[in-house]
Amino acid sequence: MTAPREDVLRELELLPVWQQRESTKTQAEAPTSVPQVQVAEQVISHYADTDLPPLSTTLAQGRADAIKQMDWQSLQDCVANCEACALSKTRTQTVFGVGDSNAEWLLVGEAPGAEEDRKGEPFVGQAGELLDNMLAAIALKRGQNVFIANVLKCRPPANRDPQGEEVTQCDPFLKRQVALIKPKLIIALGKFAAQSLLNTTSTIASLRGKLHDYHGVPVIVTYHPAYLLRTLADKAKAWEDLCFARSSMQALHSDAKPQSSKLLSPE
Ligand code: URA
Repeated sequence: MTAPREDVLRELELLPVWQQRESTKTQAEAPTSVPQVQVAEQVISHYADTDLPPLSTTLAQGRADAIKQMDWQSLQDCVANCEACALSKTRTQTVFGVGDSNAEWLLVGEAPGAEEDRKGEPFVGQAGELLDNMLAAIALKRGQNVFIANVLKCRPPANRDPQGEEVTQCDPFLKRQVALIKPKLIIALGKFAAQSLLNTTSTIASLRGKLHDYHGVPVIVTYHPAYLLRTLADKAKAWEDLCFARSSMQALHSDAKPQSSKLLSPE
């Protein structure tokens, strides 16, 4: 596929194409160089029969490649100024994540809610309080050897579900966070985070109790704290997941291969 003419011209900053109404210059004064638009037309026609990817794909790849090179500070700045999707128009501020940038534990939620959007920190509402209690249950504390982030860095308006394009644009940020933090273990909080990290449509029920992989980092799936606030009966299952996470981390420390809890539990 080739890039549409308009896209190429826009990329070359040649749009809008200005038409000269009448020349005030004499023939002798007129520039002898080939006008830029004409050059662009030649470039377009030269590549017209090739199999180049669409320009939007090339640009997205270029952006993802640039993000892959960023250090922590540049990544924070890039997220803070991101306008890659429409959520940038409705957010109060971006929510990069909070905690220790060298943490062994990385917790990943879905997207900021209203309170997170106001404060610029993930999980600060009631769900956040429960998350802090869940961490305390396995002797962890927000900010100490723990980093908390979301799949999306901006709040979807009215807490609607994140959309595909939003996830696509935000995905390079989380990937880079993981590459820089180098956590030993990721806990995916809730169905959305689990499905988008693991690129699957499987249910939480089928994903729990197993070790998955996100670019070389083991992933454990558990319920979202906001869901647990509504569904007390599943708190016991979340506790099992946390125990599984703790024993997996111990195994990772001892270099023993961590195993799925389903395999470890007696038949
Ligand atoms: N829910 C999430 O998934 N993330 C937050 O930061 C807050 C609520």
